[in-house]
Amino acid sequence: MWQIETQFSEVIERVPGVKSFRFPRKGLNLRYRAGQYFYVTIVVNSKPLVHHFSFSSSPAEKNYIEFTKRITESDYSRTLDNIKPGTWALIEGPEGKFTLPNSKRKLAFICGGIGVTPVKSMLNYVKRKQRPLDCLLLYSNTNPRSIIFKEELDELGKEPNITIHHFVSSSSQQLKPEYHNGYINKASIEKLVPDYKERLFYLSGPPSMVESIGLQVAQLSVDARSIKMDIFTGYK
Ligand SMILES: Cc1cc2nc3c(=O)[nH]c(=O)nc-3n(C[C@H](O)[C@H](O)[C@H](O)COP(=O)(O)OP(=O)(O)OC[C@H]3O[C@@H](n4cnc5c(N)ncnc54)[C@H](O)[C@@H]3O)c2cc1C
Repeated sequence: MWQIETQFSEVIERVPGVKSFRFPRKGLNLRYRAGQYFYVTIVVNSKPLVHHFSFSSSPAEKNYIEFTKRITESDYSRTLDNIKPGTWALIEGPEGKFTLPNSKRKLAFICGGIGVTPVKSMLNYVKRKQRPLDCLLLYSNTNPRSIIFKEELDELGKEPNITIHHFVSSSSQQLKPEYHNGYINKASIEKLVPDYKERLFYLSGPPSMVESIGLQVAQLSVDARSIKMDIFTGYK
């Protein structure tokens, strides 16, 4: 475990209401595995307040570590929304077992909205380190404009061992053929992941989404030991 006092180095707006925050990594011993999370303490109303976030960066990136947060009405979120590079923070980590397997395997990632953060970290690592893993991602969002990391995911999807399907649940627009309309469910998993019995599943996102998808994957008789979950508490 590491614990260091640091300063925010960069803030990037990804889509409206979602921002990435970076801290320097170069020359520091900030080890972590793709898919893990860490604790970020900031000063909120003159008091330290801590929240935890998945790394949205990959360990292959040596210059910075990054987390990505959906901005809400909470005091923590409002403070973060106004944070400038140079602001103090205490960071501690890493934690979590939502990580890639060591052996060669087929993987299926299913996530919704902000739940993409640990998945982006893992897929980026698979690409940068040329890990021999067969990866399939089903990613659900409200509309095409709310897809976080769309360009990065498009690039990752060009890798021969990474396939990405986008689902859009409530778009009033005419959808391009690259999008599936509606929610991810048992039928879409059977159709797009026909070899689901051979895959290790990673589910991440708001609690209601992960619980619902978890039940549907279980109904397909996927062994519970082949289902990993990262439930983003604090969201509906
Ligand atoms: C493993 C893990 C990884 C996560 N990764 C990310 C990420 O990458 N990006 C991201 O935006 N969020 C992530 N979260 C969620 C994050 O930790 C915050 O809970 C979330 O951002 C809501 O915080 P808030 O300041 O917006 O709202 P808050 O006002 O802090 O929370 C809203 C409501 O949820 C409750 N709540 C908050 N945190 C928790 C908790 N830990 N357990 C139970 N109830 C809680 C509060 O009491 C409040 O009622 C992750 C959570 C977990 C468990």
